[in-house]
Amino acid sequence: MAVNVRYTRYLALALVGMTFFYLVSRTNLQLPNSASFARPVQSYNEFKANKNEYPGVNSTERVNATFVTLARNSDLWDMVKSIRTVEDRFNREYNYDWVFLNDKEFDDEFKKLTTALVSGKTHYGLIPKEHWSYPEWIDEDKAAEARAEMERKKIIYGGSESYRHMCRYESGFFFRHPLMMNYEYYWRVEPSIELFCDIRADPFRFMKENDKKYSFVISLYEYEATIPSLWSSVKKFMTNHPEHIAEDNAMEFISDNGGETYNKCHFWSNFEIGSLEWLRSKQYIDYFESLDQDGGFFYERWGDAPVHSIAAATMLRKDQIQFFHDIAYYHVPFTHCPNDEQTRLDLACSCKPKDNFDWRDYSCTNKWFKVNHLSKPDGWD
Ligand code: GDP
Ligand code: MN
Repeated sequence: MAVNVRYTRYLALALVGMTFFYLVSRTNLQLPNSASFARPVQSYNEFKANKNEYPGVNSTERVNATFVTLARNSDLWDMVKSIRTVEDRFNREYNYDWVFLNDKEFDDEFKKLTTALVSGKTHYGLIPKEHWSYPEWIDEDKAAEARAEMERKKIIYGGSESYRHMCRYESGFFFRHPLMMNYEYYWRVEPSIELFCDIRADPFRFMKENDKKYSFVISLYEYEATIPSLWSSVKKFMTNHPEHIAEDNAMEFISDNGGETYNKCHFWSNFEIGSLEWLRSKQYIDYFESLDQDGGFFYERWGDAPVHSIAAATMLRKDQIQFFHDIAYYHVPFTHCPNDEQTRLDLACSCKPKDNFDWRDYSCTNKWFKVNHLSKPDGWD
């Protein structure tokens, strides 16, 4: 008898349970998923609309854009870290594609793992030889001597040949690789970077809707020894092509004397979100080709960061360059972390505000704020 009662109880419980799940499924009652317990959920657009930071971002529609990474097979494990952070903080909600470029074929392990980690489509491209070798006007002996001399002087990457091909490729070619031709915007990601805050609005869409062409999160001074003749090459280009120089440009950011000399400020190009169409424009190609003729990618060690930055600061309007202060970012050895506590809480940031590089002596971001008559955001020391 006692046994029967117990069974009846179980039966009744089971019936109640089944009825509950039946009703839930019939009425489309949604049980909250685990993500909504993690933190208060706000849509990106709601968040940004409230904050009024990215005017014009009012749809989750995707833009014709891709992540792009130049890497070697040996960069795999450092790249895995970068992909994971980009996916967790942003791309899992958007599933943008990712293009990987290499001067050698990517191996199967690289492709297998990166494809597993990227939520969008992945594409793997081999760089054509003529984009990763010496143009015919370069004297290779002179280039080798320059490398040896810079190595002796202990200039960073001074003795490296591949680093020079890399800088030249990022300056003048990645945006015209066949795999990049169908996209309008790119977001450059290097190995071992970190994003410390959620990115709750689509920066690509922000760029497009606000006619932005180039963006940055960290800016700093370039080593003089890597670019002794860069500015004279730029001046020659500006004289030959006054039609490419923009009115209302950001010349003040890169020169303290109206263009006579370069103050070495540049946007740090290991992070970039930008317009591919701008880089493919006649304006930019004329600029790159003019610089390339002068040979400084090989006889000196011109970086793609000052090359891109000078192009942006002279050939774009100042308001076409965006400083993304709420994209918190790390690439060795510098961090960009919002000092404003509310921003860090709202965006679930994990960076230490003390690590923020923006207002340190070696940063150019204070100059950017001055040139643009911006006041530092609340809480920024
Ligand atoms: P740093 O950030 O200036 O110290 O330079 P990195 O070593 O990070 O190189 C910049 C980017 O170019 C990274 O995405 C690297 O993976 C990539 N890179 C550098 N050298 C080469 C190379 O020889 N071949 C390829 N395929 N990628 C390279
Ligand atoms: Mn790097």
